Amino acid sequence: MTATSRLSPTGMIFHLLAGLTGLLFLALGLGFTAFPDMLATAFSAQPTTIQGLNAIRGDFGGLFLGMSFFSFLGAMTGRCRWLVVPIVFLILIITGRLISFGLDGLSAAGVQSLKIEVVLLAVLTASTIVLALKAGTNERGFKVTEILNLKILVGVAIVAAILAGLLLSQKKIGLALVNGIAADRLTEDVIADLPDGLHVAICGSGSPFADPRRACACVAVIAGRSFYVVDTGPGSERKMELMKLNPGKVRAVLLTHFHSDHIGDLGELMLKRWAGGSRKSPLEVFGPAGVETVVKGFNLAYSLDSQYRILHHGLETVPPAGAGGLARPFYFPPGKEERVIIDADGVRITAFEVDHAPVKPAVGYRFDYKGRSVVISGDTVACQSLLHQARGADLLVQEALQPAMISILKDLGQKIGRHNISRIMGDIMHYHTSPEDAAKIAKEAGVRHLLLTHIMPPLPVSNLKAAFLGDAEKFFHGPITVGEDGLFFSLPAGGKKISERSLL
Ligand SMILES: [Zn+2]
Ligand SMILES: [Zn+2]
Repeated sequence: MTATSRLSPTGMIFHLLAGLTGLLFLALGLGFTAFPDMLATAFSAQPTTIQGLNAIRGDFGGLFLGMSFFSFLGAMTGRCRWLVVPIVFLILIITGRLISFGLDGLSAAGVQSLKIEVVLLAVLTASTIVLALKAGTNERGFKVTEILNLKILVGVAIVAAILAGLLLSQKKIGLALVNGIAADRLTEDVIADLPDGLHVAICGSGSPFADPRRACACVAVIAGRSFYVVDTGPGSERKMELMKLNPGKVRAVLLTHFHSDHIGDLGELMLKRWAGGSRKSPLEVFGPAGVETVVKGFNLAYSLDSQYRILHHGLETVPPAGAGGLARPFYFPPGKEERVIIDADGVRITAFEVDHAPVKPAVGYRFDYKGRSVVISGDTVACQSLLHQARGADLLVQEALQPAMISILKDLGQKIGRHNISRIMGDIMHYHTSPEDAAKIAKEAGVRHLLLTHIMPPLPVSNLKAAFLGDAEKFFHGPITVGEDGLFFSLPAGGKKISERSLL
């Protein structure tokens, strides 16, 4: 005879309630595992990096799936002891939330979540009690004392005391942590530890659209021991530092064109390179005609700041001659649309003209080092010169705009009466590359790996990647990566390997 068969209507109701609670946990568990961004956003815990997504899927998904498993087990077998597992987790979750209210302050969303958790706790506790009372012989061995015995109470008291101790000693622990974290930050040098080869770091994979996960355009290239930066979009300098790429070591900046999303952080990078590396000469900034105007403007805007810092930190720490930037304009020979602009220490950098009309000039860059090659498209539509430069490249770092998504924004702008937005969306569609066109170039040029960056529109949740790629995978069968800030690609010299990881 099963426990269920003896249950009264009241017992059945609590069976059902426990089962429904299990269903809710199951939905949350599956949601966090399959759509970590969306669920995490709903819980105000949106991850900003790939590691964050990993933690949300693993920790949140695992927690809720586990709670759902034990809720179902209790509901289906009628053995109330299984319900104790989700009850314990709910008590711990509520405890953590209350601690946070005390330490971090109240939030409306937090209070709302607390209410739901208290209701779920009440439902599961009532179900446990009713099932325990109704179960009779089947649960003969189950008594409240199994849980609330002296040993467990002592254990709980010890854990609570340790937690209270940790919370009360936060100042001391914090200072000890600062020492460790600072030592780690100041001594770790990603560049010094790299094997010989070409390395590409995405310090900004976004565009002028506000995107909490992406800084604006910036790609760092480390060729041998030389550290170059292609474009310095807003927010990218901080991303570079968070990736533990020391701006004090930047050898030169290469600008593709002078749209704000490619130059906004130039002043910050000049400053951090100068102060962080006590550099004695200004940062060289290569670019097509117009780069002089941009560098002059940033130098002027930062001139007061430079004076303050020299007075404050002294001539040795911030040598005056190292402040600011030095424009290095280049021009293409008549009839040519490419030119080698740097050939030093085994690194050859070729600038080539691209098509970002009406923005002129606009260029891309190809890096060659010891048999490995990386091409950075800059902002452009698919064009012959890009195809030509991309031939045989190991990695094509290609800007990308998804027309179907931008069309939705364009139509929405029209519908809600924001005609300026609608007009801009319509205009930008014609001077960028779709993922499908990027894939066609990659296929025709025979590149080994296609990395899409300058992502438009922003992809606030990672589940939009498939929609962003559209039909790109039909045209290019090699690996395609949708860029995220922090991604780091290594192409060791003398091989064919391309490895990918995240520095954030
Ligand atoms: Zn751009
Ligand atoms: Zn542009």
